[in-house]
Amino acid sequence: MNNDDARKGGHPGGHPGGHPGTIKDVYKDIKDKDSSGEKAHGFMQNTQNQLRLLFWETTAGCNLECIHCRRLDISKKLMESDLNTEESKKFIDNLAETSKCILVLSGGEPLFRPDIFELAEYADSKGLTVALATNGTMITAEIAKKIVNAKVQRVAISLDGGTPETHDEFRKLKGSYNRAVEGMKHLQALGMSTQINCTIAKHNVHEVEKIYENAITLGVDALHIFMLVPVGCGVQIEKEQTLDAVTYEKVLNWFYDISKEGKIQTKATCAPHYFRIMRQRAAAEGVEVTPKTHGMAAMTKGCLAGSSICFVSHKGEVFPCGYLPVEAGNIRKTPFKDIWENSQVFETLRDPDQLGGKCGACEYKTVCEGCRARAYYYTDGDYMAEEPYCIYEPPEYQIQQAKEEMKLKE
Ligand code: SF4
Ligand code: SF4
Repeated sequence: MNNDDARKGGHPGGHPGGHPGTIKDVYKDIKDKDSSGEKAHGFMQNTQNQLRLLFWETTAGCNLECIHCRRLDISKKLMESDLNTEESKKFIDNLAETSKCILVLSGGEPLFRPDIFELAEYADSKGLTVALATNGTMITAEIAKKIVNAKVQRVAISLDGGTPETHDEFRKLKGSYNRAVEGMKHLQALGMSTQINCTIAKHNVHEVEKIYENAITLGVDALHIFMLVPVGCGVQIEKEQTLDAVTYEKVLNWFYDISKEGKIQTKATCAPHYFRIMRQRAAAEGVEVTPKTHGMAAMTKGCLAGSSICFVSHKGEVFPCGYLPVEAGNIRKTPFKDIWENSQVFETLRDPDQLGGKCGACEYKTVCEGCRARAYYYTDGDYMAEEPYCIYEPPEYQIQQAKEEMKLKE
């Protein structure tokens, strides 16, 4: 497959060494060792394309039907096509040989799988750091104990509103907010590190302050905000829920302000131009971006799809991330390590020189890259095209455009 073919990937039917320790340790270790920003820069550039985070859709089954869900296959129960326990362990073995990364067990709803605790413990025994991403509604005191005993290091729970009503409406289940919060409290009572994942869209953008206040009151370690990417069910609500680029910019500037308060770990996920905004704001403040000044955000970059993160679907398909449906291979046919190291799709995504439009000419491209999934969606498949929801106009791009216009007039 040549690069052009890879960039135009179609819909398939339509994120070293020894055990890195806990997620808190990983963060503290890098932050303590590096105040100059040099190591942080190396981490961000990740020239070796070391896999840092793998999101695994352990099952497509889920007890909720959220209106923004990225699942390509929707099911209320476990699916026959889900990787079975044996296949899952084989995959975990191969993953651990590829990188001692953080393995995020997601879904669907991972707690649907009866073998999820066995798999989490198995992954831990292979040196992976295990995290769980759940809607939280199934976490009783007993399940919380099982999660802790399975050596999970952090649990991320989705809360998509500043009020129970907003969240329940988005998740299409009355009481789901309160159940998720209850689940979180069961985990916290056992000392588990917790995180809130929140997708920001039109329905809850007016509640962002409340979402932040709630995260602090609830005592979570981290708040990760996500910007809606139109994939799966999200395609149907794209028009009514996607924030316009100007509002998007305002939310990310607000997020920069609260991140500086340092009350909680914060991460803007799938909002790559946050990393451009962070540098613009820091430059205006006369501050250098380092882990000491900007925490984890100084150690990473905007879009990590295919360079530091990747996603494996419930049936073994390997995608650059959970929102970019361009298949790089399938672990049922090819060992994961081969796919990660040799896929043309990943090779293309790892090369910022292949970015198109204004992203290609942008001075922030190596720290941002724009969302490749949004580029894919809005251009009918060209995942290296420019990010459509960024208001920034790179000077170099303006010069290129002016030259083009001159040529046309000649
Ligand atoms: S392609 Fe978009 S959704 Fe996927 S990791 Fe990059 S920024 Fe996030
Ligand atoms: S133009 Fe593209 S690379 Fe530059 S800041 Fe915007 S999204 Fe990022």
